[in-house]
Amino acid sequence: MIATTEKIEYGKEIIEFELLQEDRKTLSIEVLPTTKIKVKAPENKNKQDIIKKVQNKAKWITKQKRYFVDNYKKPDEKKYVSGECFRYLGKQYRLKVIKSNADSVKLKNGYLAVEYCLKTPSKLIDKWYKDKALSTYEKELDKCFQQFTTYGLTKPNLKIRKLTKRWGSYNKNSNTITMNIETIKANKDCIDYVIYHELCHCMYFAHNKEFYTLLESKCKDWSKRLE
Ligand SMILES: [Zn+2]
Repeated sequence: MIATTEKIEYGKEIIEFELLQEDRKTLSIEVLPTTKIKVKAPENKNKQDIIKKVQNKAKWITKQKRYFVDNYKKPDEKKYVSGECFRYLGKQYRLKVIKSNADSVKLKNGYLAVEYCLKTPSKLIDKWYKDKALSTYEKELDKCFQQFTTYGLTKPNLKIRKLTKRWGSYNKNSNTITMNIETIKANKDCIDYVIYHELCHCMYFAHNKEFYTLLESKCKDWSKRLE
């Protein structure tokens, strides 16, 4: 049996999968609830052919993954109890949950302090992240867009969503940047990097040389920001 890690590209997404070549006759593709992808193939089958077959199934794989992300609760998921760590703008905060007579979420002395009454702590924290994400991204988009005004572009609309694999994306038809809510957990340099990246897509659709030249001119240390 040979086990390797392979990848295919689907749209802007890179799909990684584990390939097991073993004594069997058929090819099987399985998406696990953890969103890991396992491909089993006959030992003597050419790797390029296998990858091609997986590529043909990319749409189905993506759909499966999305299903699991939406429906499967990972074991390490937050319990929303005091002492747990939550990330916000690149820093860690310990959660302090207090039953109270009003709902509120605040950053206080290095803590993420949640007082809850009508809503559950998890709902309150989700909403807090969402609000912070929207206001922060909007501010950063305004700032970053200053560097793009010379191209005669209209400032893109901003949307936030829970994206599974990406920090952001750009849709040319609706001139909309969709930012991952989770990106609010990264520091501002990273957030700006994602925004610069998506703004460069207003000019170039593909990740081609022109795209990276432009990105580099706007965000000089872009490659470092990803480390
Ligand atoms: Zn891109």
